[in-house]
Amino acid sequence: MTLTKYIFVTGGVTSSLGKGIISASLAKLLQARNFNVTIQKLDPYINIDPGTLNPYEHGECYVTEDGAETDLDLGHYERFLNVYTSQANNITTGRIYYNVIQKERKGDYLGKTVQIIPHITDEIKRHIKLLGKDGKYDFVITEIGGTVGDIESLPFIEAVRQLKWEMKNQCVVIHLTLVPYLAAAGELKTKPTQHSVKILQEAGIQPDVLVLRTEHPLDKNLKIKVANFCNVQPEYVIESPDVDTIYKVPLVMQEEKLDEIILKLFKIKFKESDKPELKAWRNFLDKYEHPKKIVKVAFVGKYVELKDAYKSINESIIHAGAENETKVQMEYIHSENLNNKNYKDLLKSAQGIIVAPGFGDRGFEGKILAVRYARENNIPFLGICLGMQCAVIEFARNVMNLKDANSSEMNPKTKYPVIDIMENQKFLSNFGGTMRLGAFACSITKKNSHANNAYKTTEIFERHRHRYELNNEFLSQMEKAGMVATGINQETKLVEIVEIPKHKWFVGVQFHPEYKSTVINPHPLFVAFIKAVNDL
Ligand code: GLN
Repeated sequence: MTLTKYIFVTGGVTSSLGKGIISASLAKLLQARNFNVTIQKLDPYINIDPGTLNPYEHGECYVTEDGAETDLDLGHYERFLNVYTSQANNITTGRIYYNVIQKERKGDYLGKTVQIIPHITDEIKRHIKLLGKDGKYDFVITEIGGTVGDIESLPFIEAVRQLKWEMKNQCVVIHLTLVPYLAAAGELKTKPTQHSVKILQEAGIQPDVLVLRTEHPLDKNLKIKVANFCNVQPEYVIESPDVDTIYKVPLVMQEEKLDEIILKLFKIKFKESDKPELKAWRNFLDKYEHPKKIVKVAFVGKYVELKDAYKSINESIIHAGAENETKVQMEYIHSENLNNKNYKDLLKSAQGIIVAPGFGDRGFEGKILAVRYARENNIPFLGICLGMQCAVIEFARNVMNLKDANSSEMNPKTKYPVIDIMENQKFLSNFGGTMRLGAFACSITKKNSHANNAYKTTEIFERHRHRYELNNEFLSQMEKAGMVATGINQETKLVEIVEIPKHKWFVGVQFHPEYKSTVINPHPLFVAFIKAVNDL
């Protein structure tokens, strides 16, 4: 059993500095040195989880194998590390308070005044230490969401201070800040960094490592200046320049020796000559940077203005593109902008079409038009979750001639609810009684189907996040008309994958394959989709 070490990553000056990517990159480097590492995100908002947040507010909601609805940073962790995360890897202020209030009602604190310190901070500390409890991990990296100085993150920062004091050599704090360049003065400015470190120090935390985000290279003197003003060893002040892909950050951090600094701080011995093995990673980057082909894929969704809303799909496409040595140019099309008059024109340059997941009826009919265009023009098509449901509805309306076919989510009075709430779906649910969340088994039932050819196996596990399902009452009629179910959950008989065998490559999946694509294991469906686009 190992004594787990805790690494905290805080951020200062501004948000969006990429704490998640730095955390994931450090984890990658430590993993490449054969350590077991996990990453956890603490989010300072009051929602119990981001499941109820609009993607415009918080980007994509990432779903883990155990069905937790989590922050999108967990997606980065899995894509970098190729290791599953779980509910324990994402904690919000809301969940902390919820637990404390429940304990209070149960009488756990009888006689005591329940307060932020110690009760809330104790609950935070309990969650941080939970992952290290069974000695499975050598390192637990905890990323504190938000920016130091925010009112919301104070209890988290205080919990870090206490842990650092209690566990001494078992804890290290990395602080990420920004060094802006003032074009008018022609200078890089360190003052915002000094101030943000002061805020941390006022909270009783001395950072051990500073990672300076910068658009321009930093010289040694600037780093020495920052080190002197912030009580940090000069060699522990490193820079993180802008790079064109997040997947280069582990290599940059390796050059900056972030992993070596961490090992030195924990007094873990290593040979200077021992560099982490990142062969597969470099191989991926090499393919990503030297594509042999360029293809255009139209992505039809209703949150396309905000790229973070579809983070995992975008990354899956990058993984699959690299695997096919193909640069995939994504053309984002707002489903609300597609109508009967313009859809052919707007989609005509697409060599492949993806229809996105989603909830509610905004932009729904535009998605139906995109499916129709892909189906009628033999263009490779991948429909994900709502995208698969759109594929079934479009097929029912235009091929099975059920003109009024719909999802009962969009029209509860439809005569032909080809997508509906199914009885056994309720049995499976674990969120407010209606949502199917997390990984479920799926059997690929048809040999030589696109799914079978892509996965090269018949038993798979994929993650779900939806309420509605294909209505099996319409299944045989649908199959006779030429759209077949190729993936089934055997326990419930729910349809998980549909295909049109006559079409070049037309696949709809009720699950979200994008949650399981990683750099080292690009998802087979995305890989097969891009291959089909490529072969056009
Ligand atoms: N709104 C649909 C459902 O709940 C699809 C959800 C999704 O695309 N994630 O079934």
